[in-house]
Amino acid sequence: MLITVEDCQLELVQGDITRQEVDVIVNAANSDLAGGGGVDGAIHRAAGRSLIEETSREFPDGCPTGSAVPTSAGDLPAQFVFHAVGPIWRGGGDGEEDLLRGCYRRCLELAVEKGLESVAFPAISTGVYGYPVDLAAETSLDEVRRFLESSARPSLVRFVLFSDGHFGAHARVLEEMVG
Ligand code: ADP
Repeated sequence: MLITVEDCQLELVQGDITRQEVDVIVNAANSDLAGGGGVDGAIHRAAGRSLIEETSREFPDGCPTGSAVPTSAGDLPAQFVFHAVGPIWRGGGDGEEDLLRGCYRRCLELAVEKGLESVAFPAISTGVYGYPVDLAAETSLDEVRRFLESSARPSLVRFVLFSDGHFGAHARVLEEMVG
């Protein structure tokens, strides 16, 4: 599923983010960038040791929640991995929405700064961190649309959703956006 915003493509696919042939894939990391389960584990396994070596060398203090830091992508087809630290869901009254928006915005800013044209995101915080997927879909797609409306780049932003349910939740939000 795909919509166009300011000549940029905003696309949803179901699949595995480690397989995406884009300039940068985004990782849903934890704040000490130590590697973990879920999409983080899959990205580190597919990229190889160089990823954890680079995060510990370049970012020994980790990364604050709501932001992201860049590394190279090791053995992955992408050129870069942006490690974004999503909020843990604590009921919604703890700044979770702003922090989630911050992750997506910072990654898009980094992509533009580096002249990268294609970015793939997972559904940050919707796994172990417990962010309700319907709310995360609304917030993340809205933030990406706003960014594309004001920056008109990167030219491709792809959400890579792992499960049927996650894909469906995002597709419903995108349909409402165009409808
Ligand atoms: P968080 O701690 O931010 O919640 P998780 O890794 O637990 O991070 O989950 C984030 C999302 O990534 C979930 O929706 C999960 O289904 C999804 N996910 C897990 N593995 C992959 C993968 N290989 N590609 C894309 N998405 C994935």
